[in-house]
Amino acid sequence: MGSCGTGGCSGCGTKHDGPQAPEGDMIARGELDAAIPHEKQEYRPLLPRRAPPYKVHWNWEIMLPCNYRCSYCVVHNEAAQYLIQGVSEWRKVWERIFKLYGCCQVRFAGGEPTIYPHFIDLVGMILEMHTVDITTNLSFDVEEWIKKVPSQGIAISGSLHLEHQKPEDFLKKLLILRNKGNQLISASLVAYPTYLDRIDAIRAMFEKEQVLFKIIPFNGVYQGKRYPGAYTDDERILLGMQVQRSQDELGKTLNKQWQDYANAKPNDKNFMGMPCHMGEMYAKIYSDGTVRRCCHTGVDILGHITDPNLKLFEGPEPCTVMSCSCWKPMVAGKYEEKVHMLWQSANHPVYPEKAPNA
Ligand code: SF4
Repeated sequence: MGSCGTGGCSGCGTKHDGPQAPEGDMIARGELDAAIPHEKQEYRPLLPRRAPPYKVHWNWEIMLPCNYRCSYCVVHNEAAQYLIQGVSEWRKVWERIFKLYGCCQVRFAGGEPTIYPHFIDLVGMILEMHTVDITTNLSFDVEEWIKKVPSQGIAISGSLHLEHQKPEDFLKKLLILRNKGNQLISASLVAYPTYLDRIDAIRAMFEKEQVLFKIIPFNGVYQGKRYPGAYTDDERILLGMQVQRSQDELGKTLNKQWQDYANAKPNDKNFMGMPCHMGEMYAKIYSDGTVRRCCHTGVDILGHITDPNLKLFEGPEPCTVMSCSCWKPMVAGKYEEKVHMLWQSANHPVYPEKAPNA
């Protein structure tokens, strides 16, 4: 299953008429547009976006079917249709995005993205221009994978599902990937109520091998109770202890962010009317190709991924929903401080990141 697991929200569905950037911004944007090369070969390291994390993040929920059937998963859907096209067609899409926004971060999620037709070739093509992060259950043959997929510019975020894999076998797979050059590996586990007594030992096992371990609060119904609201005080303390005990600063930051999100009251997540950089620095691509500004159900549609006129917002736009369901929203003035921890990406071997004013 995908790593978000937020789901279940109803957006306001307000239709957006498109961004209206202030005049000064339009002039600056024009200068930037002129500087963005329109032939890939002419690309010079340049960060065309002005807001942190400067690199656009695309969250691509490429398909909802999954080869696992985890009982707590609210995402996988075997019957769901999804957009299938060949690698040469996808190349046109991602080259166009490269020309508009430079080297971006493309995060694959699902369902299980690695079962998408010709997935390895698709990843290889995208890595020519962009960096990649794959949220996967690691059910693929890692020995085969390392022979075919470049290890630079890519992060592998393994989702450990205890109904299907033993933690030690899962860890072994991640270490094979790391030993072959994939330096950005991590693991995550959904804090399903029946797993809580195992979490401490599993986290310690992964951290002993310096593998980033993320604990995702369960978002769904267990024994008639809706989580994460239904975690007891003791369970919240146990999850909080995982943050305190972690030796890994990035793990602490990510897990604290997840828990703060799970513990937040609806009013704490009401950013309606506040400018948010989602839609400018981030977009979610649904499995049918629809692109929305963020993961909250029903928010503004930006277009379709194959549309040659698809564009992102040119600046932050007001949030239009009552209670944000994103665990790391980009509300202006509220996210910048932690941006380098929460919005990391691999370095691209050809198009490295550069400070905006360097
Ligand atoms: S605050 Fe940002 S991320 Fe959250 S719902 Fe609004 S637009 Fe989406």
